[in-house]
Amino acid sequence: MDTNTIYIIVALAVTLLVLVSLFFIIKKNKKSKTLSTGNEVDLKLKLSKTKTGLLSKLAEALKLRGKIDDDLMEELEEILIKSDIGVETSIDIIDELREHVKKENIIDINVIQSKLEEIIKEMLLKEYSANTDHFQIDSAKPYIILFTGVNGVGKTTTIGKLAKRFVDQGKKVRLIAGDTFRAAAIEQLTIWAERAGAEITKHQHGADPSSVIFEGVQKAVKDNDDIVLIDTAGRQHTKVNLMNELSKITRTIKKIVPDGPHETLMVVDATTGQNAITQTKLFNEAANLTGLVLTKLDGTAKGGIVIGIKHQLNIPVKLIGVGEKQEDLRDFEVNQFVEAIFE
Ligand code: GDP
Ligand code: MG
Repeated sequence: MDTNTIYIIVALAVTLLVLVSLFFIIKKNKKSKTLSTGNEVDLKLKLSKTKTGLLSKLAEALKLRGKIDDDLMEELEEILIKSDIGVETSIDIIDELREHVKKENIIDINVIQSKLEEIIKEMLLKEYSANTDHFQIDSAKPYIILFTGVNGVGKTTTIGKLAKRFVDQGKKVRLIAGDTFRAAAIEQLTIWAERAGAEITKHQHGADPSSVIFEGVQKAVKDNDDIVLIDTAGRQHTKVNLMNELSKITRTIKKIVPDGPHETLMVVDATTGQNAITQTKLFNEAANLTGLVLTKLDGTAKGGIVIGIKHQLNIPVKLIGVGEKQEDLRDFEVNQFVEAIFE
C-alpha cells in the first residue's frame, strides 16, 4: 500500500466518523424536542378540567348576558370566586376589568373575554416574574427539602416522584420517613425509594419523628448525599401538637445542618379549594414555608387556586401534581401554565 492510499483510507474513515456522530447528534436533538412539545400538549390535556371549568363558564356568561353592565361584572366575579381564585384576587381582577372597560370604552363582549384573560395572565406573570428560581440544589450539600401538609394531600407521592427525578439527574438521594404516625406511610415511602433508587432512613411506626430525622440527616452528611427529602405526618392529636412537631423538626435539622432545611414545601390538594389557603396560613406560622406544591390539578375544575394563592399568601407555587404517576410532577412554569389554560 502506498502512502496515498493510506491517506485516502484515513480521510474516508474520519469522514465516516464525523457523519455518524452528526447523525446521532441530530437524532438526539430531535428526540428531546418532540419530548418537550409532547409534555406541553400533555399538560394542556391534564389541565383540561381547569381550562373548561373556568374559561367556558366565563364565555357562557358573556354570551348569555350579551350586555356589559354591573350585573355582568358581578357574575364574572362570582365565576372567578367559584373557581377558587379567591375573593380578594377575584375582586382585584374585576376591578381592573371595569377600569379597562371605562377607559377603553369597550362595548364588544368578545373584547371583554380576551381582556379578562389578559388581566389574569398579566397578574400571574407579574406574581412570578421575581420568583422564577426553582430549587438551587447545588447551593448546599446535602440539600434538604422538608415536606409538610395535612393528611392525604400527596406529600409522600410528591417525594417519590421528586426522588426519581433527582436520581435520574445523577444525584445521590436520601428519603427520611418522618411520618411515623402510620405504619403504611413508612411502607409507602419505602416502595417509592426502591422504585427511584434512593436511600431511605426509617424507624418503627410510632417513633419520635425528630429522632429519625436526626439520624437521617446525620447519615446524609456522613455519606455525602446530594439531596434529602423529608416526609412528615399531616396528623397529630391536635393542631397545636402538629405545629409544635413541625417547629421541633426544623430545629432538629438545624442542629446538624444550620442553614437547613433549604426548602420547606407545603403540599396542598388543589381540589380542597379555599381550605388549602387556610391550612397554608397556619403551617406558615410554624414553619417558614418557601414554596407550595399544588397536587391533583388534574382532577379539578377549580384550578383557579393557582391564580389566587400567590396573590393572597405571597408563597410561590413551585411544583404541580397532575396525576398519580411518576412523570406527573411538573415544575410550575408560569408561561407554560398560562398557555395550557388559555391557549
Ligand atoms: P400524603 O398523606 O400527603 O402523604 O398523601 P399521599 O402521597 O399518600 O397521596 C394521597 C393520594 O393522593 C394517593 O392516592 C395519591 O396517589 C394521590 N395523589 C397524589 N398526588 C396526586 C396528583 O397530582 N393527582 C392525582 N390525581 N392524585 C394524586
Ligand atoms: Mg404520606
